[in-house]
Amino acid sequence: MTDTLPPCPECASIYVYEVDALLNCPECGHEWKADERAGTAPEVRDSVGNVLVDGDTVTVIKDLKVKGSSTVVKVGTKVRGIRLVDGDHDIDCKVPGIGQMGLKSQFVKKVSG
Ligand SMILES: [Zn+2]
Repeated sequence: MTDTLPPCPECASIYVYEVDALLNCPECGHEWKADERAGTAPEVRDSVGNVLVDGDTVTVIKDLKVKGSSTVVKVGTKVRGIRLVDGDHDIDCKVPGIGQMGLKSQFVKKVSG
């Protein structure tokens, strides 16, 4: 059982129920596909709203202290080949000169190309 069904897109009813892969609204009778958003992995976005994917290159947009040390990841540090993970720090990556660590997507910006 999931309690996170989205409201009806037609009438915004919250009494939506799920039948097989379809969502049904008892109030207006609307029926739609249990959608693209729910069910798939949530998108991870960078500080300006770009969607990040595994393998992207990002730059750090502010100095970040590495937890438990005096090391700082400097603003502008370029990090290649990120990997998206679940959790508070949703990017797993290897930072040049520092090593494997977790970053928060809100503190990075995707580098295009
Ligand atoms: Zn409805």
